[in-house]
Amino acid sequence: MSFDAAVVGSGPNGLAAAIRLAQAGRRVVVYEANSTVGGGARTMALTEPGCMHDVCSAVHPLGIASPYLRTLPLADHGLQWIQPPIAAAHPLDDGRAGFLLPDLDEMVASLGPDGDGWRQLIGYAAQNWDAVTAEFLRPIVHVPRSPLTLTRFGLTAATPATILGRRFESPETRALFAGIAAHTLLPLSRPFTSGIGLLLGAAAHVEGWPIPRGGSQAIVDAMVSVLESLGGEVITEARITHLDEVATDGPIIFDTGPHALAEIAGDALDRRYRDRLRKWRYGLSSFKVDYVMSEPVPWADARLTDASTVHLSGTADAVAAAEAAAWKGELTDRPFTLVSQPSMFDATRAPDGRHVLWAYCHAPKGFTGDLTETLDAHIEAFAPGFRDTVIARHSRGAAEMEADNANIVGGDIGAGSPSGTQIVFRPLIGRDPYRTPNPRIFLGSASTPPGAGVHGMCGFWAAESALAAGGRDR
Ligand SMILES: Cc1cc2nc3c(=O)[nH]c(=O)nc-3n(C[C@H](O)[C@H](O)[C@H](O)COP(=O)(O)OP(=O)(O)OC[C@H]3O[C@@H](n4cnc5c(N)ncnc54)[C@H](O)[C@@H]3O)c2cc1C
Repeated sequence: MSFDAAVVGSGPNGLAAAIRLAQAGRRVVVYEANSTVGGGARTMALTEPGCMHDVCSAVHPLGIASPYLRTLPLADHGLQWIQPPIAAAHPLDDGRAGFLLPDLDEMVASLGPDGDGWRQLIGYAAQNWDAVTAEFLRPIVHVPRSPLTLTRFGLTAATPATILGRRFESPETRALFAGIAAHTLLPLSRPFTSGIGLLLGAAAHVEGWPIPRGGSQAIVDAMVSVLESLGGEVITEARITHLDEVATDGPIIFDTGPHALAEIAGDALDRRYRDRLRKWRYGLSSFKVDYVMSEPVPWADARLTDASTVHLSGTADAVAAAEAAAWKGELTDRPFTLVSQPSMFDATRAPDGRHVLWAYCHAPKGFTGDLTETLDAHIEAFAPGFRDTVIARHSRGAAEMEADNANIVGGDIGAGSPSGTQIVFRPLIGRDPYRTPNPRIFLGSASTPPGAGVHGMCGFWAAESALAAGGRDR
């Protein structure tokens, strides 16, 4: 059977691309290597029966606030967002903690002398969310619709997080901002590291940092359902290794890494372009542990129980030091660690008497060891007695992650290093980064702008590029 268009990979970007093509009247097929759909948004029973773990992504500020996903009827197709009372928490060793509260006014009031600075920096992006995301969740080379917002937000975003963070006085606000900025996966002294801090901070005040009922899988299941309602089809256990395996004469959008695109497309792409794709650099690695516990995490500060995400690393200086060390290839006792506790807010995630916990940390590039004990100790330091609650663990390093999802090369959760030009030009410098020299082949994974996260915007823009090249609606 022949289709009008095809997508290789059913991650959130692949599915967003497929839905956009189907909306334009194309009959689309999606090929997925795994037995289940969703890539970095799958939820699986990795440990005990009934305990559902998010394999990669867990918390979705950019999912709920994505300009494209927001336009889709995902709620009608089963997606329910759960809003924990606190978006993110960041405890310090001395017992203080920073809290990212969804309501901007409440947040500003809670920060005392830092409130004004928070409103000026993060509040500005929240209050101009549509303009900010319209300018930044897309390729950087474009004609701006809101040049003033672009300039004001862009200049702040370009500031290293270590410098911007000094706008705050209290150690807990500084640490909170540093922890959010550390999602950039770069040393915080580098330019542009404030951008993610501002964007994710602002997203909390726009739509919160929610988790989907049932886990991240609910997002991609709803996307598949929307796609099928538009006549699209997903074929699982179909790893594409050569273009001959793709049943279309129309456009093919790759939800894969640039190296994989070069291999699969082969001679269909000219040698110079393939050589450039092969130069794509991957960044930091990661290590993840999924826990089953007999009770909630016994946080020393009980307020952390209400947080969607908990960042563990201590002060802003400690976060910066941990990220700098990882970049130098050094292991530390306290790597930057992210924790999410979904069963606190969603009873479907674990049976009675059980809780699931999701935790991962950043690790040096090329790291192949086991950081289970490091993560256990890190959580225990902020939650004495934690180890005694653990019933089962499922640990994954770079090799296991990449074997499970070919896009997570070397455990890089960002689909490519954001260092150098790669922070904005993904995978190559150009006005339309989704296009390739072959008019039928497009790249739309998180290795393209705007980069990592479950927002579908890379796939959406890749589909727009394909539609522009091949005539728009049918
Ligand atoms: C540990 C971890 C934690 C994360 N936490 C968050 C979070 O909390 N919130 C957030 O927003 N983001 C998070 N992310 C990032 C997020 O998961 C990714 O940025 C996002 O999933 C990227 O989407 P994608 O569609 O580009 O690729 P992916 O989601 O990686 O999907 C790619 C798909 O393509 C398939 N595929 C690859 N090659 C082929 C082939 N040759 N043939 C057929 N199929 C193929 C893969 O099997 C996979 O299903 C996390 C990532 C990791 C690894």
